[in-house]
Amino acid sequence: MVFWRGRRRKKLLQTPLDDAMRAELHRAAPLCASVPGNLRARHEGTTRVLLAGKHFEGAGGLELTDAMKLAIAGQAALLQLREGADYYPDLDTILVYPDAFVVPNVEVDPGGHVVHEGPDERAGESWQRGVVVISWQDARRESRRRDGYNVILHEFAHQLDDQSGEADGTPLLPHDLTGRWAESFQAAFERHQRDLRRGRHVLYDENAAESPTEFFATTIELFFEYPGDMKREFADVYAVVAAYLEIDPATWSG
Ligand SMILES: [Zn+2]
Repeated sequence: MVFWRGRRRKKLLQTPLDDAMRAELHRAAPLCASVPGNLRARHEGTTRVLLAGKHFEGAGGLELTDAMKLAIAGQAALLQLREGADYYPDLDTILVYPDAFVVPNVEVDPGGHVVHEGPDERAGESWQRGVVVISWQDARRESRRRDGYNVILHEFAHQLDDQSGEADGTPLLPHDLTGRWAESFQAAFERHQRDLRRGRHVLYDENAAESPTEFFATTIELFFEYPGDMKREFADVYAVVAAYLEIDPATWSG
């Protein structure tokens, strides 16, 4: 079974998107169009692996289309381009709601994002493990433009974080990155909190100052949305995330 799955995955990884899918993805999520040529095949194959391997479900009356699934998988795939990517092994289901306001029992943050079940709320909500919840209204808007927000990247970043067994802002890391990661993230988190208190112009938003896990998820959004600013203003964090994900979006076109 594992062998079969391995072979199927390998085949999917080697299968590019067809032209119509590629055009649709680039239209819905221009960020995916900026993936450089040497990563394009891997990105498209990874998108296929996620489309085939995860259960996508419309909720709250949403009729889920292939285009929606593609936009979600294509952006989630951006976080899985490294050698030895594991494709969110703990994630089974992606639940998509029409908008942030009809979602029962799910918190909505000030930006209108559906907030995942965080570490504090998880007690008694273990059924939430393995589920990403996305508000399509927000996802659609944020995928189309670069404004520093991307709920898809944010929620899938939380999946990476949770994989270490603890939502603490640290995903499973190769051994040689752990020290650098802890140092650079802690320094940046503290600096962000300080800057906010002093009312300085900041790259990160207020939600990022809440906890290391929110800071990490926001870092992933900014890493893709404003890579140039990240690299300039938070060079150490940018470098360690680039080393972890094995990509450098500051060099991507667009
Ligand atoms: Zn979050």
